[in-house]
Parts: sequence; C-alpha cells; structure tokens
Amino acid sequence: MSEALANLLNETRQFPPPAELAANANVKADAYDEAATDRLAFWERQAGRLAWSKQWEQTLDWSNPPFAKWFVGGQLNVAYNCLDRHVEAGLGDKVAIHWEGEPGDTRTLTYADLHKLTCQAANALTDLGVTAGDRVAIYLPMIPEAAAAMLACARIGATHSVVFGGFSADALTNRIQDASAKVVITADGGYRRGKPSALKPTVDEAVAKCPSVEHVLVVRRTGGDVAWSEKDHWWHETVETASPEHTAQPFDAEHPLFILYTSGTTARPKGILHTTGGYLTQASYTTHAVFDLKPETDVYWCTADIGWVTGHSYIVYGPLSNGATQVMYEGTPDTPHKGRFWEIVDKYKVTVLYTAPTLIRTMMKWGEDIPAGYDLSSLRVLGSVGEPINPEAWIWYRQHVGHGELPVVDTWWQTETGAIMISPLPGVTAAKPGSAMSPLPGIAADVVDDQGQSVPNGGGGYLVLTEPWPSMLRTIWGDDNRFLETYWSRFGAGAGSGSGGDWVYFAGDGAKKDDDGHVWLLGRVDDVMLVSGHNISTTEVESALVSHPSVAEAAVVGATDPTTGQAIVAFAIPRGSVETGGEAGEQLIADLRNHVAKTLGPIAKPRQIMLVPELPKTRSGKIMRRLLRDVAEHRSLGDVTTLQDSSVMELIAAGMSGGK
Ligand code: ATP
Ligand code: MG
Repeated sequence: MSEALANLLNETRQFPPPAELAANANVKADAYDEAATDRLAFWERQAGRLAWSKQWEQTLDWSNPPFAKWFVGGQLNVAYNCLDRHVEAGLGDKVAIHWEGEPGDTRTLTYADLHKLTCQAANALTDLGVTAGDRVAIYLPMIPEAAAAMLACARIGATHSVVFGGFSADALTNRIQDASAKVVITADGGYRRGKPSALKPTVDEAVAKCPSVEHVLVVRRTGGDVAWSEKDHWWHETVETASPEHTAQPFDAEHPLFILYTSGTTARPKGILHTTGGYLTQASYTTHAVFDLKPETDVYWCTADIGWVTGHSYIVYGPLSNGATQVMYEGTPDTPHKGRFWEIVDKYKVTVLYTAPTLIRTMMKWGEDIPAGYDLSSLRVLGSVGEPINPEAWIWYRQHVGHGELPVVDTWWQTETGAIMISPLPGVTAAKPGSAMSPLPGIAADVVDDQGQSVPNGGGGYLVLTEPWPSMLRTIWGDDNRFLETYWSRFGAGAGSGSGGDWVYFAGDGAKKDDDGHVWLLGRVDDVMLVSGHNISTTEVESALVSHPSVAEAAVVGATDPTTGQAIVAFAIPRGSVETGGEAGEQLIADLRNHVAKTLGPIAKPRQIMLVPELPKTRSGKIMRRLLRDVAEHRSLGDVTTLQDSSVMELIAAGMSGGK
C-alpha cells in the first residue's frame, strides 16, 4: 500500500451487552487489565484451566524467534482433557454431542460414549501400527466419528491432518503426500443436499498415488457400494470391536497435534502446524471467554465443518475441553428446506450459535420470514467468523436471529492463529456492527503503516500481531522458509537488517483503527484497490452495497483502468424478491452506483456493477476476489482448486463479456 487505507465507512451504531449477561459473564472487563499487567502470568492461569500430567518449567521460550515454544517441559494429553477428566468428574452421562444427520436421523453421544469410541479408535489405530508422531489423514463427513477420529489421534500422539470432505482427489492427494500420512480415515460417503455423496472413490483415487498410506479405515454412513482393497478396514469391524480400555499417555506441550491447510482464498494453501499445550490452552480459554460458555446450561452450536480450523478449535477442542453440550449437523442449511438451521436451534434449544457471514447473507437473501417461523428464544450469544461481516448483515443477524437484543461477537482469527484473537467479549464490549473491536486479553495486535509504524486512531494499514501467543502456528509443515517469508519478513526483526527490534507477525489483512481505537478488518491486503492514488478497502465498498435494501451480498475488485490506475468493479447478488431483468436491472445498477458514492464518497463509486446469482467462494464460504479480478481484467482464471462451484465463474465470465 503506497499510503494508508482510506477510511470511508462511518458506522456509529453501538450496542452494549444485555445487563444480565454482563452481570453473570464468565469474563469481565478486569481480564484486560490482568493480562496487561503480566501477559505470561495471565496465560499460565489459562493453562491452569487444563489438566497437566507434568507442570511446565518455562511459560514461553522465544529465544529462537519466530519459532515459539509455550509451556516448555509441560506434559498433557489433549483427549484426556476433552473427555476423561469430565467422565472422572462424574459427567459421563452428560450429552457431548447432539448429532443431526441431514436426512433427519439423529444420535446422542454422552461424554462416556464419546470417550469409549475414542478409546476404541485409539486402540484400533495402534493395532494398525500408528504411533506417536505418525500422520493420519481424516476425510470424513460431519459425523461424530470425525470428532472421535481426531481425539483418537491426539490420544496416541499421532498428528492429524483433516481434509474437508468436499475436496477433490487431487487436493486430498496433495495433502496426504505433503504430510506422508500413514492411515486415512474416511467414510463410504455422507449426505449433502438431500442425497448421499460418495467419499470412498475419491480416497481410492488418492491412495493409489500415495505410497505412504498403509491402511484406510472406512466408516459406513450411507451404505452405498464401495470398492475394496487389502488396505481397507471397516470402522465398525475394527474400531467398534476394539477394547474400550485405553490409558492416555501424556505428550510434551510442543508435541505436534495437527496439520491443517489454510482455505486457499488468496494462494496455494499452506500446511499450518499446531502443537499441544499452547493450542489447547487458547482454544479452551477463548471458548469460555468469547462465547461466555456455561457448560452446565448452554447448548452450543458451531455450524462450521470439521475440515476448517473453526471446526477444530470450536467444535472439537474448545467446547469439549470445556465439557460443553453441543449440536453437530451433517448437512447443508437448505436441505430439505431453507429453515433447517432455525429448526435445529428450536429443536435443541441452542443457546450459543457460531456461524459465518456467508450464511448470514444467504439467510438475508432468503428473507427474514424464514427465521421468524421458528422459536429462537433459547439463543443468548451469536458469533461470526470467516470474513468481515458487513454492518447490515450484523444488524440483520442481531435483529432477526438475536431477537433484537443479543450480543454479536465478530471474531477475527486465522488457521495460523489457532484460536480467536480479536473479538468483543459478549458481557463486556459495547460492540459496533462490522468491527471485531479489540484484541482479547493476553493478545497484542496493532495496525501499522508501510514502515511498520503504528497508525494513529482513525488510520488504516496492515493488521499485525506484536507478541507471540499460545496457539500460534509453529511453522508451515516442512517449509520453515515459507513460514518466515509469509508471516515474519514484512515488518520488525524478521524483515532483516536495519529494521531491528521485535518480531512482528504479518496477518495479510488490511485493517483500520477507528477514533476509539477499535479494530475494523478491511479485507485481504492482496485485494486492496488503488484508485486515483487512494487505497480503498474491498470490505467498505461491499458493506456500502449490502447496506442497500436490494442487495444481499457483494464482492468488489480493483481492475486495471487507463485513467484511475485501478477502477472498482462490483458484483452484487440481489435480495430474494428484487426485480433484476431489463430496465429494472439497469435502474438498480445506476441506483447502486449512486448509493455507494453517497455512502462512501465519489472516489468509491464503482465503474461497473454486475448483478449475479452467486459469487465464487471457497468451500469454506469465502469470496475469492482474485478470480473476479481475473474476470474483470479478462485474464484466464488462476488456481481454482479450492473453489466451491466452478460453474459460477462461467456464468459470471459470460455476463462480463456481454459487457454489462
Ligand atoms: P489463504 O490463507 O489460503 O488465502 P484463508 O486466509 O481464507 O486462506 P483461513 O485461515 O481459513 O484461510 O481464514 C483466515 C482469514 O479469514 C483471515 O486472515 C481474514 O482474512 C478472514 N477472516 C476470518 N475471520 C474474520 C473476521 N471476523 N473479520 C474479517 N476477516 C476475517
Ligand atoms: Mg490466510
């Protein structure tokens, strides 16, 4: 960025927490002061929320930056912390997972049930020759076995690499090969969009190219036909017949827990390595703090897939380490009807809901009548993750899901950070729609300019993390150089001679500080647009478009322009009932261009707006602007392997060449 990001959006609404929630919150305002007084002592106390077999000797070893070691010398078992200790505390009969299959079949697993299944899986993996340090790939639908498989790996010290069940054979092959996985855990298939969707053929294709794989464990979910080889073992014949007795061994705090690839929104996915003690400490603490989770009374539901980091930290490790009761759902939000999510909230009396902006915007597109048809009164905290949430989507979420009064926590974090970093606290923060607000207690973040200097309030630039944190990535698997280059070489000591000083983590996201010093995420640094010498944020222009009553979702990109350097090209999805054909469409486009100019100023007026039925998204639901930029600049498309639905791009490209 040649100059600070322009600060165009002026959002002044602010919502304090409900009084009762504030009075009874798990974490109150004093946590910020406590952590500021002694950050490491604060994290030691949070680590103390877990059961350790051996106490650590040193909280943080930062002698070889940016390679951190947390809770050095400490030992613990992650699965013991998520299961055994709750069962030992007499909570074996408590529900861990209310599972809802897409076709409507259900299962209830208590902590004792999940413990038993995990112990059996641990024994079965051991029998297959898996030992501590081996890698196991997990390619499963959203069924309880996915959580049990992850916990079984953690239990025996094997490093899991979960690959989202929607990925192709090539993506799976790359991930298995990158980690040299010894075992793959999969299923015959899962249910998606109302029908069985096979997984085993994809695994067969991948395993044929992966000599490291010795065994494949197959859960029977759909009952569909599967090809069988001598490497294959049915889960029900192997795991479910194994002994339920298993004593968890402690592992070093820095033992590798999992590898997980980033979503691939901006580039080739990176295999992020997380370790044991620091990761669990922060995943567990943030679940307790950010969702105000009360394990005795809450019913928690995170709608993410286990294949993303959100599923790792906020379906498996965070909620289970806290002993929570949660809902797990296998399918899509519109199967068999568009009210499915709200039906599930109503059925299980969900109290804490954690979902993504893409889903909220989809619900906006479908209309508020749908959530209005269900009893959502059990809800008390709402969360958002994955992309910046446009202020209008935030307001819609609070209004139509949160009965006009619930706190919405907009949580900023990444696969790399392992856990939530910047977010409101639901019982403390008077949240502003569209802002992630402040770094959590114990976290140090800042917004800096090109030179790495902290920008004043009101300024924009790059989001950085200025102190190591417990759940930070330890490296990119097998590629320390890419780790150093991607995250540590932009600012601070990692930038080489001359810059001196401390190590600064470059997150790759643009951000601004408002007049109160609150943090607003402005989109990927790679996506920032430079129009007539002004850096303009994609998020701000998109939020302006979404604030128009006819628009549900929007994406903007900067396309090369002979006069302005770059010009703003926008793609907008109209809300459900909006007329878009012929003249009505032309009129809407003209209105939208003027609406943006009025909201943000003439500099942000899009040169061109296309009305589209869908946007290109990653499989985790993030908008892939780089593909839209390729279209806007009439280039052939870059890497599309993480794209959810490739036909979307064909539609958009056809519309574009039609010259709208
Ligand atoms: P890749 O790194 O491969 O391009 P990715 O960044 O999408 O993929 P993730 O780790 O899943 O992979 O996503 C983290 C990113 O998601 C953040 O860097 C940020 O851009 C975005 N993000 C997540 N939560 C928020 C949020 N609450 N507000 C704004 N942006 C968010
Ligand atoms: Mg990223």
